[in-house]
This record gives sequence, C-alpha cells and structure tokens, in this order.
Amino acid sequence: MLKKSIVWSPSRVRMLNECPRRYVHFNVVGKGGWPGGPRSRIPKVANAWQLGNKRNRNDLMLRAVSDGVKDWISMQYRGEEWPEANAKNEMTARLRNNLKDSGGEIDDGLVKKMIEEGFPRISALDRAPLLSQLSRNHVEEWMPLNRLEAHWVGNSRVYTVPDMIARIGDIWHLVRLSSQMWRRVPSEIQQLELGVMLKWAVEEPSLPNSPDKFVIHRIGWVNHRWLGWKKRGSTVWKDASQVMLAHDIKELQFIHMTNQENVDLDTLAANGSKKNCKNCGFRNECPSSAVVIPNNGLISET
Ligand code: SF4
Repeated sequence: MLKKSIVWSPSRVRMLNECPRRYVHFNVVGKGGWPGGPRSRIPKVANAWQLGNKRNRNDLMLRAVSDGVKDWISMQYRGEEWPEANAKNEMTARLRNNLKDSGGEIDDGLVKKMIEEGFPRISALDRAPLLSQLSRNHVEEWMPLNRLEAHWVGNSRVYTVPDMIARIGDIWHLVRLSSQMWRRVPSEIQQLELGVMLKWAVEEPSLPNSPDKFVIHRIGWVNHRWLGWKKRGSTVWKDASQVMLAHDIKELQFIHMTNQENVDLDTLAANGSKKNCKNCGFRNECPSSAVVIPNNGLISET
C-alpha cells in the first residue's frame, strides 16, 4: 500500500520522462517537494534533496523573474504603482538568495548579468497579451490565483490552478504564465497539461460548470517579448487532459511503489544526455552523467 501521496505537476512528469534515475534520486530518496528531505535527519535523504534542488543559473534567474511577475500582477490587482527601481532591488535580493541556496558564490558581476537577462521580462509585462488590457473596461473582473495551491485527485496532489483568471463578457479566461518559452504554440502534450485547468475551473463552485465557458491562455516570454496562445475550452479537451492526468498519476505511483529510499540508483534507467544532465544535481555521483561540472557545486551551463 502506498502511504505517501503522489504529487502531479508537468515539471515532475517531465523529469520522470527525461531521466527516471534523476526523478527517483530527488523525489523518492530525497523525498522531493516541500518540506521533503531538507528536514530529514538521515544524511542520505537530506543530501539527495539538496542535490536535487540545485538549479543552473538560468533556472535561478527564471525563478526570480516568476516571483517578480507575481509581484507585478498583485500590485496591478491592488491598484498600486509599480516602481521599477524597487522591483529591480527586489529581484537582485532574490537572485542573491537563490544563488546562496543553490550553494554557489554570490558574484556581483554574475548577479548584474542575470538582472540584464531577466529584468526586461518584468518591465515588459504591461505590453503582454491580455495583461496589457487588465485595466480596460471590457475586462469586467479579474484576480491573481496561486498556482502552487494543490488539489486532490484521490490520494494525489495535483497542480491545476491557473496563475490568473479574468472575465470578459460571459467568458472566463484562465491564464498560465511562463517566464521562458521556446515557441508560442504549445505542443500537443503541453496543451493536454494546460487542459487540466479546465478540470479545476468546472469544479470551482463559483465558476460555470461548462468547459466552453472558458478560454485557456498561455502567455510566455519568447525571443525578447511576451507572446500569447489561446484556445476555447471544450469537453473533449477537458476529458483528454483528465485521461492524461490519470495515466501520469499511475506512472508516478508505480515508480514510487517500486522504489524505496534505499534503492540502488545505479540499477535504474538513466538517460544521460548533455541536455538532461547539465541541470541535474546528481551528476557528479552518477556514472551515466554526460557532463563534467565545475567544483563549486553550482551548475554553470545553461
Ligand atoms: S546525471 Fe544525467 S543520467 Fe544521471 S541521473 Fe542525472 S540526468 Fe540522469
């Protein structure tokens, strides 16, 4: 019997698909998530969590951008001014914290470079699709939401809440924001992942219970600007997303059932490619790693 609840999020499923060994190292041995392993008194568990939680500089920068985006949206919602200088200071503090938590040196030159790369994404939010219209009259109501608020499907925690919701006429717009996208149009699998927001929406007592009353948006930073993709919700889309969700949860349950903290990681399937290993904290110990990493513990390739 599986005692621990399963956590579903697109990033977890991606990690499992990219490299099962990495997934097990972080999420089974290191008890991934929060509070997860850092509070464990067992050194092996705490170490696996810390290594699994390491991120490369690009990810640390994107994490600080996401926090800045959340601040920007909350201030818009509260009708407050967004002073650029304060936002830059806030991002600098977050970057320094993120670098410290990831075990790297806090280098002022590096922080400046990360600000140059990341801050334009926050300062361009007032030109982003839909976000630029929030103060106009045709947007009747809107509010930021917390995508980190989990919902339960059986014994599994799933992350299905949008970043923001807006009503225009009798249509509700469910928005997922991304600080970095490679292409405007989501792949088929990404569309299914986005479709889980429909499940959340129709189950929300204060919202319509018909998927066609919603439009799903993905708004993200692609090649120096914010671009949007949107699609009207439908029952077919919602149902297909639920099938995907059920399949993913089964796969995650299986991997947790068949592996324990004391698993021999070397016996697990590994997908050692430069792309997968460069951002994996386990790479120094993993015999299948495809990259050699500098010795300060902070992954420098992006
Ligand atoms: S180093 Fe590469 S092969 Fe090894 S667990 Fe990490 S991603 Fe997988």
